[in-house]
This record gives sequence, structure tokens and C-alpha cells, in this order.
Amino acid sequence: MNIKPSFVIVGGGMAGAIAAQTLREEGFDGNITLLGQEPSVPYERPPLSKDYLQGGADRDSIFVQPEPWYAEHAVELSLGNAVTSLDPATGTVTTATGSQLTYDKLLLAIGSKPRRLGVPGADLDGVYYLRNVEDSERLKIGFGQAKRVVIIGAGWIGLETAAAARAAGLDVTLLVSGEMPLEHVLGSEVAPIFDELHSSHGVDLRYRTTAVELTGRQGRVTGVMLSDGTLIDADMIIVGIGAVPRTQLAAEAGLKIDNGIVVDEHLRTSDPDIFAAGDIAHAYNPRLGRHIRVEHWANARRQGAVAAKAMLGHDAVDVRPSYFFTDQYDLSMEYTGDIGPAGYDQVIFRRHEDPRQVIVFWLYEQRVQAGMNINIWDVAEDIERLILSARPIDADDLADPMIPLAGLV
Ligand SMILES: Cc1cc2nc3c(=O)[nH]c(=O)nc-3n(C[C@H](O)[C@H](O)[C@H](O)COP(=O)(O)OP(=O)(O)OC[C@H]3O[C@@H](n4cnc5c(N)ncnc54)[C@H](O)[C@@H]3O)c2cc1C
Repeated sequence: MNIKPSFVIVGGGMAGAIAAQTLREEGFDGNITLLGQEPSVPYERPPLSKDYLQGGADRDSIFVQPEPWYAEHAVELSLGNAVTSLDPATGTVTTATGSQLTYDKLLLAIGSKPRRLGVPGADLDGVYYLRNVEDSERLKIGFGQAKRVVIIGAGWIGLETAAAARAAGLDVTLLVSGEMPLEHVLGSEVAPIFDELHSSHGVDLRYRTTAVELTGRQGRVTGVMLSDGTLIDADMIIVGIGAVPRTQLAAEAGLKIDNGIVVDEHLRTSDPDIFAAGDIAHAYNPRLGRHIRVEHWANARRQGAVAAKAMLGHDAVDVRPSYFFTDQYDLSMEYTGDIGPAGYDQVIFRRHEDPRQVIVFWLYEQRVQAGMNINIWDVAEDIERLILSARPIDADDLADPMIPLAGLV
């Protein structure tokens, strides 16, 4: 009798769903089981801080695959069923309901979780985090009831929820731990774009400050005490201070951990039958010559596909530059690239006639490391090609909007 192989995917997010899809597209006819902690079929998270939060998208529109797809492709779903332990020696996973499942190949795609605020009052009612669709729905209801929100953290989640809160008519105060929002990601040359965007939309930005205590009355938050001693009244707090990879399951199973689950370029962990993809994976990138862990949508998509192919024994690798996007008010942008440990030594602005349109390039030794197109479309692939070419590019040509980017590669 020919017994079909069993592939188990743990984590029903973007990476897990794309892995299941890719396995079937590649012709795998063995058993696929996808175990997810959340009750929902896999969905995309970017809308949770954008149009879904603002009421512009419904639930069906955020699913990675329509609900019937899984049965149609013989992908067994076990939802609301977290994996609690993993035994590589016997090739078994155990779930919260006590059921056990054996695997021939296993994919861990369990993502990351919000970093928690560790100050007095952090567990008061009215304090919100954003990771899941339920969090987004709670936030939307909160927006309808609150008047003043303080957002702790000026990263992507903090800025996108600030834009959504302003659209909902709330007074918004944004706590920036450094000099400017996103300065650690975009640098001091480009971060002012987002600083001005939010101040021009009425957000009260407070710089070089953090929350040291949340004040409350009868179990509900009433304000935030800042590190400079200022007390700000608030009936709602959003915490957006980053995310941490969910490494506990893998660590307890003895897999190698270092800033996520360590995997090679084929996304294979220290156990040859176990793979990891998405936010959780600290993956070796042969083009960059180092491990990177990326918490973005495109990375989860690409790695879900690479992991599936690698599970099938194919020689799959992803060396494309990282990619992500954001939408805030009337600004939409895409960012392509990875700034390495050496950083950048030049920033070039390609300004278009419409002042809302700009492309920014970060260079190191005249080679483009990353590019960000704001309110301009169909150039991300050209930027990717410029990065992959690794050729010195003339700075004047990069800055000139009349010279097509495609011609510079
Ligand atoms: C609000 C928000 C907005 C975002 N916006 C953008 C954006 O604009 N652009 C962009 O590029 N990226 C964005 N991101 C990041 C992007 O969504 C993530 O990088 C992507 O979701 C990662 O996919 P993943 O499959 O690795 O993990 P996840 O999507 O986190 O999925 C992991 C899944 O595994 C489940 N799980 C965890 N533990 C277990 C367990 N023990 N057993 C079973 N299941 C488990 C989790 O519940 C979850 O459903 C955003 C993220 C958030 C939260």
C-alpha cells in the first residue's frame, strides 16, 4: 500500500495559507493539515490598521483564500486549535485540545505578537493592541466611543492607527520615543515626511518621550503620565511598540533560536524536516550574506511559497529585496530594499512636479540599497532591479524625474 505523506502547517496566517496553496500548485497530492490558533480562516493583516479599521472593507475581502478553497483543495483546517508542543524525535505535534498529529514535513508559520507595555496601569480597560481581526474590530468600536486617544509608539502601527483615529474624528496624541516618527527605519532625512504628514492632519506629536504610567478610575484608563512628567488625559490608549516573534514552541522543541527561528536559505530549521516562514523566520539571505528577519506582508507571501517548495525537496530560495507598503491619509507608499549593517552614505530625492510625488533612494558606495516611492505607482519593480543590479548609479540621473528608472539598470 502506498501511504501518502503528511505535511502539517502550524499557523493560519499569510505564510501558512500561501504554503498550502503552493503545495497544491506544485502538484503535491499528500495530506495537508493547517492548524491555526485563531478561529478564522487565514486573512491578511494590513487592512486591519487601514481600510478594515476605517470601515472600508468587509471581512470576506481580507481572506487570503475564500473559505471554500480549503475543502476544494483538500486542505484540512483545524482552527481555534493552537499547537502547544512539538516533538521532532517522533515527528508529532500536540494541540490545545489534546489531539496529536504526526508529520513527515512540518512548517512553523506562527508569526509574531505585539510587544506588551510594561508600566503600571497597562492592564486597565481602554488599552488596545492590534494584531488580530478581533483587535481591529474592538478598536473600531473604541473609536466610536472615545474622544481622546493617546498612541504609544510611532512605528507603522502607531502611524496608521493615528490616521484612522483622525479619520474617525478623535483627538490624537502620538508619543514618539526618539526625535521623529520612523527615524530608526527611514533615517533623519526622510522621517520628516511622516512627521509633517501627521502634524498637518492635526496629530499632537510629543517627541523624546515615553509612557511611564497609565492612570485610571474604576478600572478604566483616564490618562498617560509621560517620562517628562506631563499628564495627558485620554479615554483610549493604543500601544504600538513593536512585535516579538513567537519562538516558545520551537525553543521548547530544541530548534535553534536567535531573533526568531533560525533557518537556512531554503527556510529549513536546525531539524531537517521542520521549516519556518514569515515573521517568525530569521532566514539566511545568500544575496546579502547574512540572516534577516522581516515582519512584512510580502515576505510572508514569498517565504510561504519558498518553504512549500523546499518541503517538496525543490531548490527554492528568495533573494529579492524586502518590500512593504503603507497608506496614511492621502499618502500611499511602497518601500523596497534592505539597509545593511553598514547603513547608507547618500540619500537622493527624485522630486516630481506634483509635490506629493517623490521617490527616495538610499545608497551605499553609489549602489542603491533601498527606494521608497510615495504616491507614484509602477516603479517598485524598477527599484528592485536597480538594487539587484548592485551597479554604481549616477546620483544626478537618479534625481532626475525625466530619466526613466528602467533606463538606469
Ligand atoms: C495591523 C497590522 C498591519 C500591517 N500592515 C502591514 C502593511 O501595511 N504592509 C506590510 O508589508 N506588512 C504589514 N503588516 C505585517 C504583516 O501583516 C505580517 O508580516 C504578516 O502577517 C506575517 O505573516 P505570518 O504568516 O508570518 O504571521 P501571522 O500573520 O501573524 O500569522 C501567524 C498565525 O499563527 C497563529 N499561531 C500563533 N501561534 C500558534 C500556535 N501555537 N498554533 C497554531 N497557530 C498559531 C497566529 O494566531 C496567526 O494566526 C501588518 C501587521 C499588522 C498586525
